[in-house]
Amino acid sequence: MNTDYYQQLTELGLNAAPLTPAQSEEILTSEKIELLPLLNAAYAVRKQFVGKDVTIHIINNGQNGFCPEDCHYCAQAKSSKADIEEYPLKSDDEFMAEAKNAYEKGAHRYCMVFAGRGPSKGRTERLAALIKKIKAQYPLEICVSAGLLDEEKAEVLKEAGLDRLNHNLNTSERHYPNICTTHTFADRLNTLKAAI
Ligand code: SF4
Repeated sequence: MNTDYYQQLTELGLNAAPLTPAQSEEILTSEKIELLPLLNAAYAVRKQFVGKDVTIHIINNGQNGFCPEDCHYCAQAKSSKADIEEYPLKSDDEFMAEAKNAYEKGAHRYCMVFAGRGPSKGRTERLAALIKKIKAQYPLEICVSAGLLDEEKAEVLKEAGLDRLNHNLNTSERHYPNICTTHTFADRLNTLKAAI
């Protein structure tokens, strides 16, 4: 791509104009796209709006291991032989103490990450209560990575004040069976749709 192409992307960003799906696909898939000019175009937009400022996000791994899923890349998967320190779900007091720590360290967002297929109704309600408690005490944004969710559970978390839901698609639909057999690409996509 020539210089004008990247300049045009910068202009779109500076005018807060969203890319069309076709433009996004081209950026992601075209062999004509050069990474460094693309990064430069993106940086010009970042510099205009936020300069060199960064926000700090602190992650609390709420549980390690004990996951019934078999994502082949993950050390917490039931099929993994990785030598990790497993621990069960932390107590609410531990989550609160780490929220306090995140706030005192200047975090903008506190993210709680949970291994597992997805939360039960009871665990979703417990998580919602925890989100409310944290937000009542600290001016933090809250992010959660909790696995598969349906609309009802996503709504419960949203009502509690959840600011962000992290959920990775990981790979293409075609390749998904090669990296996981216990859930599908569609399961993950449905979680994203439930969160909209
Ligand atoms: S669901 Fe999450 S924690 Fe469990 S194996 Fe997959 S990536 Fe790892």
